[in-house]
Amino acid sequence: MKLTPLGPWIARKLDIEKQNSRRLTRELIEAYQLDKLNQTLELASTRSIFYKHLLAGCNLKLKNLKQLECLPFTTAEDIRINPLQLLTVSQGEIDRIVTLQSSGTTGQPKRIYFTAADQELTIEFFQQGMATLVEPGARVLILLPGKNPGSVGDLLKQALTRHGVESIVYGPVFDPAETLAVIQKEKIDCLVGIPVQVLSLAKYRDANGLPVSVGVKNVLLSTDYVPEAIVQALQEAWDCRVFNHYGSTEMGLGGGVECEFLHGYHLREADLYFEVVDPVSGEVLPDGEYGEVVFTTLTRQGMPLIRYKTGDFSRFLKEPCPCGTVLKRMDKVRGRLKGTVQLRNGQCINISELDEIILGLKGVVDFSAELHEGKEQLLKITAFEAEGNQISIEPEAVVHALAALEPLNKAVKQKNLKVQVQVKNEEQKRRITSSKRVIVIIPESGEL
Ligand SMILES: [Zn+2]
Repeated sequence: MKLTPLGPWIARKLDIEKQNSRRLTRELIEAYQLDKLNQTLELASTRSIFYKHLLAGCNLKLKNLKQLECLPFTTAEDIRINPLQLLTVSQGEIDRIVTLQSSGTTGQPKRIYFTAADQELTIEFFQQGMATLVEPGARVLILLPGKNPGSVGDLLKQALTRHGVESIVYGPVFDPAETLAVIQKEKIDCLVGIPVQVLSLAKYRDANGLPVSVGVKNVLLSTDYVPEAIVQALQEAWDCRVFNHYGSTEMGLGGGVECEFLHGYHLREADLYFEVVDPVSGEVLPDGEYGEVVFTTLTRQGMPLIRYKTGDFSRFLKEPCPCGTVLKRMDKVRGRLKGTVQLRNGQCINISELDEIILGLKGVVDFSAELHEGKEQLLKITAFEAEGNQISIEPEAVVHALAALEPLNKAVKQKNLKVQVQVKNEEQKRRITSSKRVIVIIPESGEL
């Protein structure tokens, strides 16, 4: 097994030789991150109108990484409302704008801006990330959009060329038979794509009901939540290795990638500083605890982001990776966080509605809500009892109270939704700030 190539790459970026050490250590990474954080704070607070206001009055000369916890978050809504105010360069210096259509409350799309230097950083990361799974001489089919210069497929192709690997930007799969024919004809041995699209290739059967034989040895899945069932289905179909990549446009397309041990993403720590926070209180959680992933860009020039809330639900893995790297490892993203979720009957429930009902119950000080997708939806509520509560709360009482929520009640009656409540008598761990509450959506992973 080889070390993740991200380690030596980050060591080079840290210029470790100059620091009288040849070995990458946590101390060196964190000293570098602190330095870059301070540079980013300086850049953002002086050049971006948005951050000038947001960070006014804050301590922007951090003495340690922990002091970052005092700074406010940036949200998707902030980017949606006025993306140009986040820029730290003139619009003329912007090389690429990515527009993301997503369901924000304002209905506006989200725009992310990159300079040429920002894009160069992405290419570098792609090159190192792909070096984890392919050697020079490999042939890669990129099943991601790549027509436009600077698009994800285009940057990936540039990165692979630097690594001595031939690639074809094919784009998304519309006709599995046609894509499989290209894989055979071009002797492709590695695929990069969106999980369900790659799965459609593995599950395709020809006119005789047989799978199409391909020589795919490695697959990198990206841009979406990756159910374990898809990973297994691909391994079985092609006897290949399946790597997961974690990233979003806001992260500069890449955030982390698994090493050969395939157990959690090694993070792009020279360009991004990650935190996992309590989605309710915003407090930083200890390693090992699940929460919302937050990141700060360390090297972004055009549109730096400070403590950006991703809405992704994951945790840092405490145990060192068997590959031996000192880079931090993040568990696979387990779900997404949302204020409003849609039920199968088409109606929506909002966390603030749950707040009104559950926090209105005597003795309840806090709760968490998870919506599990499956044959039917399952809403799991964990209610926390106040310390020293005299009359214990019955889960049935919570279920009964929730029936007052009409869309939820309807869905239960139509057998589209099950509600499960547990009551925990724990010390209050979280401060309650109702407006920031979220429901965790756990995607279906068992059935395909
Ligand atoms: Zn590893």
